Amino acid sequence: MGRRRRKRARVRVVPKRKLPTIFECPSCGATAVSVSISKGKEKVVRVVCSNCHLMGVYEYNPYLSPVDYFSKFLDEYEEGRLSQATLGEGDEGGEEDGES
Ligand SMILES: [Zn+2]
Repeated sequence: MGRRRRKRARVRVVPKRKLPTIFECPSCGATAVSVSISKGKEKVVRVVCSNCHLMGVYEYNPYLSPVDYFSKFLDEYEEGRLSQATLGEGDEGGEEDGES
């Protein structure tokens, strides 16, 4: 059936515990890169572009701030070490998976 039309005009309020820190993606240029810290057993920090799904995962370090992870992300991007995240990981329960 139809493809969904994507609207990007509306700013969605995110009620989740995501950090509001958004940076500009070096790959697609969208200001859609978020830094999220998952605090499970293994603390990791994910830097993900929600537009093109470029992703970097880093060890959590309490002395670093989101922008520090983002600069690692940029470095790795420059070195060509980043890859796109797989779509549909399903652990964030988002509604933003429109591609199939
Ligand atoms: Zn991007």
